Amino acid sequence: MGAINGTEFLNRINQLNTEIWLDGKKIQGKISEHPAFKGILQTKASLYDMQHDPALKDEMTFLSPKTGDSVGLSFLQPKTKEDLLKRRKLSEHWARKTGGFMGRSPDYLNSAVMSFASSSPVLRGRANCFPENIQSLYEMAMEKDLSFTHTFVSPQVNRSKTYYESSEKEPIVARVIDRNEEGIVIKGARLLATQGGITDEVLVTSIPNFLLDEEEAFAFSIPSDMKGLKFICRESFVGGDSLFNYPLSSRFEEMDTILVFDNVLVPWNRVFYYDNGLAAAELAFQSSFHAFTSHQAVIRQIVKTEFILGLAELLVQTINVSEYPHIQDKLSEIIVGLETMKALLEKAEHDAALDKWGTMRPNVVPLQVANNIFPKIYPRFTEIIQSIGASGLVGLPTENAFHSSIRSDLDQYLQSATKNAEDRVKIFRLAWDLTMSSFGTRQTQYERYFFGDPIRLSGRLYKSYPLADYVKEVSTFLDLETEE
Ligand SMILES: Cc1cc2nc3c(=O)[nH]c(=O)nc-3n(C[C@H](O)[C@H](O)[C@H](O)COP(=O)(O)OP(=O)(O)OC[C@H]3O[C@@H](n4cnc5c(N)ncnc54)[C@H](O)[C@@H]3O)c2cc1C
Repeated sequence: MGAINGTEFLNRINQLNTEIWLDGKKIQGKISEHPAFKGILQTKASLYDMQHDPALKDEMTFLSPKTGDSVGLSFLQPKTKEDLLKRRKLSEHWARKTGGFMGRSPDYLNSAVMSFASSSPVLRGRANCFPENIQSLYEMAMEKDLSFTHTFVSPQVNRSKTYYESSEKEPIVARVIDRNEEGIVIKGARLLATQGGITDEVLVTSIPNFLLDEEEAFAFSIPSDMKGLKFICRESFVGGDSLFNYPLSSRFEEMDTILVFDNVLVPWNRVFYYDNGLAAAELAFQSSFHAFTSHQAVIRQIVKTEFILGLAELLVQTINVSEYPHIQDKLSEIIVGLETMKALLEKAEHDAALDKWGTMRPNVVPLQVANNIFPKIYPRFTEIIQSIGASGLVGLPTENAFHSSIRSDLDQYLQSATKNAEDRVKIFRLAWDLTMSSFGTRQTQYERYFFGDPIRLSGRLYKSYPLADYVKEVSTFLDLETEE
């Protein structure tokens, strides 16, 4: 089969019988026609269509080593730095098409599946581990161009260090409640699957941070319409269909969902590991998962920052405020963020090296630094946009107003130094949807927590960073006694 196009993607998602709940109602009918999902699904379909654009095909696909079919490039297991750059190009194409606003474009989780498969030998010979199932999922995903959502986090019930959920009670946190001839049975909930219900598969794995119990340590991938699996949506942030009024939410609102596993039977051939906390830690931290998912994320975040910089400058030009030093300072803050992220990406690729399984892995340290920086600078970017736009982000008539009898008032009073009223409102509505609408504020929360809790991310950077040489240097300077 190989790389799919947009229509094939939509048909496949529509044919799934996935149980999705929105506003207390189970969604019926074609999901691609539902007001909350049609925008994002159309946008995602347009990404798949790019794989068949003759001008882009070579940069979006490669030939499957197994079937010779053209398959999506985000499944490529890179063996060289050139391969890594091909992966970057693919992610850039998809990110540019969406301005970086689709956090879960398919390359994100395709990269996760690829990296788990290329590192799957880490599970070899361990109890309750099936690395061969990761490899076969990877091959199936590549050949069928499957799309994924994922859930790694347990419900936010009680995050104190000492909290322990008793296994004697009805589970809240998803856990294995039975192991039988057919597979493992999961009961409980997991957070927070972005695009949950609108992908072919759900990738479930365990992050040791959140684990207290072996029964909570499992990983697998199952079809989204598996019996007993329920996706509970938050309210939709799609403002409406109008691209003028809601330039971002009408196209890029991804939805986030809570996953409920109601005695879901995961067949043995889909289980990667179960009842094994050490396997969870090894797969999370020894595999190339962090390196490749961060590589994709940083590429997307750079494209998003470029979009934000372009918009910030357009606002400045529209109301002609470029002469003020504080405006220049704010724009340069975005430029510094952008160039820092670009430099970190280049360094990660420059310092890439073959890992012990023969995969060309980007250097994770610069990517970890980027993962620490972006959650801090992204909220600041939105604040900058808000402080340039000021009341302009609030005085915003709608598309209908421009087609009404008050049009002449709008044309007169909403014109700006360089733009007519309609274009000026278009620009400011974009700034509003980016920073102030429910869609925009969710984007900020998303970038803040995208790669996990930023506090624990900085802790991980500190704990894993090689500090010994620097300590030794200072110790030598002070002529201290050192332990060799
Ligand atoms: C918009 C959005 C989309 C998301 N999409 C996905 C997705 O698709 N798939 C997925 O798996 N996850 C997703 N997530 C979840 C994301 O991975 C988590 O938000 C992140 O890991 C933090 O976990 P938490 O939200 O449970 O916060 P918590 O862990 O509950 O943290 C709450 C607060 O307590 C503090 N805290 C808690 N525990 C500790 C600790 N041990 N040490 C120090 N401080 C602590 C935190 O710093 C924070 O301030 C998404 C989140 C958001 C906001």
